[in-house]
Amino acid sequence: MTPADPQPANLWPRSQEAFAKAKMLMPGGVSSPVRAYKAVGGQPVFAASGKGAYVTDLDGRKYVDYVMSYGPLILGHTPRMVVEAVIDAAMRGASFGMPTEGEIALAQLVIAAMPSVERVRFVNSGTEATMSAIRLARAATSRPKIIKCVGCYHGHSDSLLVQAGSGATTLGVPSSPGVPASITSQTVLVPYNDLDAVARAMTEHQGQIAAMLIEPIAGNIGTIPPAGGYLQGLRKLCDQHGAVLIFDEVMTGFRVAKGGAQELYDVAADLTCMGKVMGGGLPCAAYGGKASLMQQVAPEGPMYQAGTLSGNPLAMAAGIATLTALADGTVYRVLEQQAAKLERGLAQAARDAGVPVAVQRVGSMMTCFFTNQPVRNNDDAMRCDTRAFGVFFRAMLERGVMLPPSQFETWFVSTAHDDSALDHTLNAAGLAMQAVAECKA
Ligand SMILES: *Cc1c(COP(=O)(O)O)cnc(C)c1O
Repeated sequence: MTPADPQPANLWPRSQEAFAKAKMLMPGGVSSPVRAYKAVGGQPVFAASGKGAYVTDLDGRKYVDYVMSYGPLILGHTPRMVVEAVIDAAMRGASFGMPTEGEIALAQLVIAAMPSVERVRFVNSGTEATMSAIRLARAATSRPKIIKCVGCYHGHSDSLLVQAGSGATTLGVPSSPGVPASITSQTVLVPYNDLDAVARAMTEHQGQIAAMLIEPIAGNIGTIPPAGGYLQGLRKLCDQHGAVLIFDEVMTGFRVAKGGAQELYDVAADLTCMGKVMGGGLPCAAYGGKASLMQQVAPEGPMYQAGTLSGNPLAMAAGIATLTALADGTVYRVLEQQAAKLERGLAQAARDAGVPVAVQRVGSMMTCFFTNQPVRNNDDAMRCDTRAFGVFFRAMLERGVMLPPSQFETWFVSTAHDDSALDHTLNAAGLAMQAVAECKA
């Protein structure tokens, strides 16, 4: 750098000040790890407010937002009917510890949207939903083990913080200190999109598999669609081996279609986990399924699970307003059209700059993988050029586009992402892809 090259101006003085303070008070300065920008370098941008497709940071800079709270905000930021419903509910009481009519209304909407869900239990997070669904599957089958795909994320409960062990065994080992090996040894790991691996695991652990837990569209390694026949194959294998098929639709539920991935691919799960969109941005999640299974949940049955704030009136109000807005049949068509336009534009920007990418998309979920191969599982994703993603991410941020700060996250398009938001994004992407190309050269 020469004197003629000024230091780049600090674009985020207030965010940096806030981050310095936050780090003294909270581990890493954040309430959830990905928000700390470790995967892309630099310091996190603090949010101040959001409206429609846009988020504004503490320094007053405005971005087209594709984080969208990591999925919940399918209607964009602060949609009026959701804000009004929450205010209205808050005026009547934030929480009672008594049943409310809001739970009935949201349960009706969920059950109407998801054909395989006959009964539903509300919880506060996706983590709780998957943890409880696993417990229910174990209770119903009197079996100890579960199968999970490498790279799929189902929240942070002990049995799911697991990675592949060494050697030929498919049994998992803890992926975080603090998780006992005795717990993860009950979790069998298989690659995503590999039906034979599931068949082998079912045979190897004959009579011991309580459930196969899966994201029907993988979204937490970036967006990976299921291969043709994969979900149908899982359905068959679970039936053959008496295992419960659990679809974790926390991300895909009410997002890829009203009835989630189950509607899109015409497969019914035994148990379904939901969250994110279902709560319209408030802490709200649920698990549900066949009445015969859900009848085993306390107090109707013996499987214990409870929650002080479960079915919270504010969360119910936000969920009811959101799912009601989604009942309009045109929503998913508009999302598909806008997301397809973004996908095409990104692929074109990459081609123009000579940067190899695989843009993968299902409905309004998408990821731009920096690789020249399609990504079908975790191993494929790990071959991506994360440094190129980091360059792209920072170039987009400087040009007013907020992407999730990791190569291995899904971008979310909302109904508020109109042509003007997309045009801004694609202009920025053209320049950001050139920045990546220059870095590689
Ligand atoms: C986000 C997510 C979770 C965890 O939900 P939290 O509310 O963050 O606990 C679980 N499963 C999937 C598929 C998710 O995308």
